Amino acid sequence: MTALIEAQGVSKHYPVETGGFLRRTTIPLRAVDTVSLAVMEGETLGLVGESGCGKSTLGRLLIRLLPATTGTIRFGGNDITGLEGKALREVRRSMQIIFQDPYGALNPRMTVEDIVSEPLAIHDETAGAAKRVTDMLSLVGLPSRARERFPHEFSGGQRQRIGIARALILNPKFVVCDEPVSALDVSVQAQIVNLLQDLQGELGLTYLFIAHDLGVVKHISTRVAVMYLGKVVEVAAKHTLYAEPKHPYTRGLIASVPVTHPVQRAGGRAERKRLEGDIPSALHPPPGCRFHTRCPLVQPICRETEPAVTEPAPGHLVACHLAE
Ligand code: SF4
Repeated sequence: MTALIEAQGVSKHYPVETGGFLRRTTIPLRAVDTVSLAVMEGETLGLVGESGCGKSTLGRLLIRLLPATTGTIRFGGNDITGLEGKALREVRRSMQIIFQDPYGALNPRMTVEDIVSEPLAIHDETAGAAKRVTDMLSLVGLPSRARERFPHEFSGGQRQRIGIARALILNPKFVVCDEPVSALDVSVQAQIVNLLQDLQGELGLTYLFIAHDLGVVKHISTRVAVMYLGKVVEVAAKHTLYAEPKHPYTRGLIASVPVTHPVQRAGGRAERKRLEGDIPSALHPPPGCRFHTRCPLVQPICRETEPAVTEPAPGHLVACHLAE
């Protein structure tokens, strides 16, 4: 498989002022810190981690919605890190985002037709827009008459379908799905995940699917990347990651997924084990391995030396001193 989008050593640091009036100083908030990650053509890469770990920021960096502080981003083999103006707009057509909150992401004063066709207007593609909107609404399972209505007239799941129609109307290749089902009822989540999978097959899309728990990405992902405090700590094919997680943080995330299946419950997996402790501040990340303040296997070296990313098995990347 070839990489469609690739980050090499990508960081996003926000300057934050701290201290009192006399001791005011600026320090970087390391939202994303020297991350290297590739999304292969046609796959769904699940990106998982607790709230505030930098996964949404990384998604926005990949599609150039945010400028990177350091590092390189390649799309289709081309370096897009420094693109601006028309060249950036052109590449952005191929990279879209579906937002988490279908309530907040849609302008309540715009009709569905205006919302879905807005990207066409931005890219001066208004010819045939009405038909493209109708086709796109049908593709996401909404009736044509939905076009004259406003977002508040729809349920959460239907609003997310409108958001998906808007993201796909420019025929992108790569879509960042930023927690697209987190704000929806459990009963609706599966419908939206299934819709995204059907659309991927039909349109040949590549997804980065962001979620805060491993249960949600299990169904849809080809591979899964786990993020902790601005770093990617483990990447593997889905089945490998769930069956043989190598990073203690990944193991903690898997143990914290609620067990709903009656057979697993009967087998003793009824308990959901929450990860101990809180995620430290990205303003003052712990030295060495960032997970050492919460890791049940912590060693003296972990407090001093940051673990390098190793590949203990083909395609299985881990950043932990005990990975081998
Ligand atoms: Fe735990 Fe050390 Fe591995 Fe970090 S490097 S995850 S602290 S064992």
